[in-house]
Amino acid sequence: MRALVYHGPGSRALEERPVPVSRNSEDAIVRLTRTTICGTDLHILKGDVPTCQPGTILGHEGVGVIDTVGTAVSGFQPGDRVLISCITSCGRCDYCRKGMYSHCVDGGWVLGNKIDGTQAEYVRIPHADFSLHHIPDGADEDALTMLSDILPTGFECGVLNGKVQPGCSVAIVGSGPIGLAALMTAQFYAPSVLIVIDPDRHRLELAKRFGATHVMAPDTHVVADVMSWTEGKGADTVIEAVGVPASFELCEELVAPGGTIANVGVHGCKVDLHLERLWSHNITITTRLVDTVTTPQLLRAVTAQKLDPASLITHRFRLENMDEAYDTFGKAADSKAMKVIIQP
Ligand SMILES: [Zn+2]
Ligand SMILES: [Zn+2]
Repeated sequence: MRALVYHGPGSRALEERPVPVSRNSEDAIVRLTRTTICGTDLHILKGDVPTCQPGTILGHEGVGVIDTVGTAVSGFQPGDRVLISCITSCGRCDYCRKGMYSHCVDGGWVLGNKIDGTQAEYVRIPHADFSLHHIPDGADEDALTMLSDILPTGFECGVLNGKVQPGCSVAIVGSGPIGLAALMTAQFYAPSVLIVIDPDRHRLELAKRFGATHVMAPDTHVVADVMSWTEGKGADTVIEAVGVPASFELCEELVAPGGTIANVGVHGCKVDLHLERLWSHNITITTRLVDTVTTPQLLRAVTAQKLDPASLITHRFRLENMDEAYDTFGKAADSKAMKVIIQP
């Protein structure tokens, strides 16, 4: 089969690999029909993710069809259409029993990181019963590809951790795929003010189309503008969807007394926490790696057309054009790429 293989910082190649085989009775082998590229794949290629060893097939998102299952898999059989969760979970360990699949002792984020991932024609999924979801008949596979990672990430780490409430004010710093996923799913709760901040004007236009009430670049008067849109209080929920010190520190300036900063961004270096100002502001700061516990809920919302994640898709490629797909996704400011769909 063809697969996109990581070869160390700055290096990747589309090459021939053997079709994966089951190593454990709980494994399933899935033939992919859709996959995509995530910002995290770009982090791996920069060398930011030391757990990902050269030789690993990249990718942790996708949908497909079950090819074979191990003898202990009871919920799936060959031919079933499935959504692959970016988080693998055994369903039995202490973390899994608390719904913290991201920290599963025999799983978590392993696909396209510690084991071969989904940017290939086939993938081996460990603990298939807990790590796959059935796709209902007639469901749009493009839309569901957005449910492997970005929709549950925006919803769980941003909206749920951020305690978005009806009528509240929300500010989202970062208008990439995750920021927009938070923007879409925040609207389940009907906030009254929904601000999106990003330097890219095209991404702000998209945010406006997806329901932002106010958009702006993070320029010198961003704090004053956010105060003016929130009765001088700041935002009740501030969602950090970038992962650099400047954006987290902006969140610290934008949060209202009693509010929550929900971090979603992947941070590679330390960030200053301004307790000299915030110690008395009754704020909460949350962090989380997506657990994908809300995937069944989101799947039903998409199937019932209450959520349209396919609108995040801007480009399509065949697996053989993976280089072009990475270039397009990696140069999003020029290509205006948001999510790309790749069909093996
Ligand atoms: Zn991802
Ligand atoms: Zn577990």
